[in-house]
Amino acid sequence: MSSAIRVTVWNEFEHEKSHQAVIDVYPKGIHTVIADGLAKHGFEHVRTATLDQPEHGLTEEVLAQTDVLTWSGHMAHNKVDDKIVERVQARVLEGMGLIVLHSGHHSKIFKKLMGTTCSLRWREAGENERIWVIEPGHPIADNLGPYIDIPAAEMYGEHFDIPAPDTLVFVSWFKGGEVFRSGCCYHRGRGKVFYFRPGHETHPIYYQAEVQQVIANAARWAAPSKGFEFAYSGGRAINMKVPLEKLD
Ligand code: ZN
Repeated sequence: MSSAIRVTVWNEFEHEKSHQAVIDVYPKGIHTVIADGLAKHGFEHVRTATLDQPEHGLTEEVLAQTDVLTWSGHMAHNKVDDKIVERVQARVLEGMGLIVLHSGHHSKIFKKLMGTTCSLRWREAGENERIWVIEPGHPIADNLGPYIDIPAAEMYGEHFDIPAPDTLVFVSWFKGGEVFRSGCCYHRGRGKVFYFRPGHETHPIYYQAEVQQVIANAARWAAPSKGFEFAYSGGRAINMKVPLEKLD
């Protein structure tokens, strides 16, 4: 099942070339670790794409062949071309899944899909984070226990300026007493969007088994469902109204 899902792992790939503390943790970039985690979970069609590639590696052709896109970015959100953001949005509306990770909360694509600032409180102190599973029957919580402990994390706290999620799967707790909505599901058009909080470039969080499990679960959940075509065609949202026959 997983093997048929085509995943593109996108990463801005900037810290990992410029900050020694990040190079030490992710010498080949965060994207390669996420892609390896998906491969471990049986995904056979995983490719990576980065900011410095032509069209950020997200050409029409690549996106047409992508069922689920994962998004990692932090220091270079503003370098992402608006045309590419619009192209990704169109694919989401058409049915492509999108998994936005950690500091991707401030990416252009996430803010565009949410319609809010997506701002939050934060503190960088390497604290323990406990991520509670609050929807144990949700597919994104498959093969997890009641909670995930991240030994050292950056704190993100409420208020997180997002629309209320369709389903909230995880809530994080931090030592300062803060809580955070750390696993948020949305539908936008025909596409499914999942925001997942853990990450941060100086902590080895994407190597952690439970985190890789969640990303694999989320990729399965976010893969396009079949259904009839309506208002989205060939990567474009069509501005239309459909006249219906009068019923007797
Ligand atoms: Zn961070």
